[in-house]
Amino acid sequence: MIAEMNFYLTSLGCKLNQAEIESIARDIEHRGHTLVSDVRLADWAIANTCTVTHIAARKSRQLIRYLKRTNPLVRMALTGCYVDISPQEAQFLADVDLIVANVDKNTLLDRLLEFTSAGRVLQDIPIQATPHRLTGGHTRAMVKIQDGCDNHCTFCVVHIARGPQCSVPPEQVIEEMCERLGEGYREIVLTGVNIGAYGRDSAAAAPLLPSENWSLARLVGRILSLPVTRLRLSSIEPWDFAPELLDMWTDSRLCRHVHLPLQSGCEATLRRMGRRYSAADFERLVTQIRAAVSGVSISTDLIVGFPGETDQEFEESFRLVQQLELSRLHVFRYSPRPGTAAIHLPNPVDPRTAQERSQRLIQLGEELAASFHRRFVGREVQVLFEGSRQAAGMTIWSGLTDNYLRVEAPSAIQLANTLTSVHCYQADATGLRGELLTA
Ligand code: SF4
Repeated sequence: MIAEMNFYLTSLGCKLNQAEIESIARDIEHRGHTLVSDVRLADWAIANTCTVTHIAARKSRQLIRYLKRTNPLVRMALTGCYVDISPQEAQFLADVDLIVANVDKNTLLDRLLEFTSAGRVLQDIPIQATPHRLTGGHTRAMVKIQDGCDNHCTFCVVHIARGPQCSVPPEQVIEEMCERLGEGYREIVLTGVNIGAYGRDSAAAAPLLPSENWSLARLVGRILSLPVTRLRLSSIEPWDFAPELLDMWTDSRLCRHVHLPLQSGCEATLRRMGRRYSAADFERLVTQIRAAVSGVSISTDLIVGFPGETDQEFEESFRLVQQLELSRLHVFRYSPRPGTAAIHLPNPVDPRTAQERSQRLIQLGEELAASFHRRFVGREVQVLFEGSRQAAGMTIWSGLTDNYLRVEAPSAIQLANTLTSVHCYQADATGLRGELLTA
């Protein structure tokens, strides 16, 4: 019998990591233990780490050291991509009790409790992590539908850390959806490493899927048969955006937000990155999505300073992004990651040039975001409110529309987790300001 313990959980990086740490948190509470928001009060700290860039890896290392420095007595369990990729390094960071590989993450709590009862250290694989705040309130829940990736983009360490594509069986996804809906969540976000590949598992990797042909579109259709208020999809690779997926947007509960990672708008750079589309393919897809989904927000990821990226290549990429008028850009400077093919490519871009290119794209992103937001000035939008702040003696509530507009509006009434009509009167790169029409 293990006495009740206090757990401090933290996660770095992507929505998938967030979904996983929230799943561990539910498991902890289900077993009668307590989640605490201060590591000084914890018996155990569990950190879900990230290594997508060298900055994420550094944050993971800092997190591990921070946890142990803040509470030298805390027992620590590490998991996530940083530990999978850099196990030896993680082992030397701090006094870590338990390290669990990504592939065994769903057994982390069992292993931890076994360790606690046996009073011994299990070392499966080394890892690290950063502090994470679990979702506040019951507004938006992340539901993991798959893990891993069978693609080989030359810059990417994630497919190495996460392994082959593996789908969560549809009945398990539906079961989790029903649990989250029962808890009062109004918005569900489907997450994974590569959700567009849902259902395309090799027999060896995923014997869990039933024999029928499953796809992301089919799963979305099944989920929309449930009483879900809002369903949001996380990032989908352009080559996975199947035509039948577009048909799903006839249901207004599917959020009009599509995140399509472009990475570069230059053909030659895309080839070196191992991406499976041309700039023209991407442009065609954006046109199709806009034609099918009115008011859709299309955002993207871009990498600058990829090895061999000349000034001309960058300008080609910049022009395409400018011309596509996407609503939001996530700009990353290329980060050489261990084990990737790109680390061996010649002609590295010097850091100052990469920094300048990054700044130009970030500025373009702000202009495009402001321009997209201005389209909604004078219009009524539906906002799912999440939280509030105090300003000038007023309570200012903040939330998101289905097409990913950040909207703020003053209200003395509690609006958390309500879907509310707002008339927008002002916009900038960060979002919109408005006044409530209903509450
Ligand atoms: S699609 Fe490419 S970038 Fe995305 S996880 Fe797979 S290998 Fe990495």
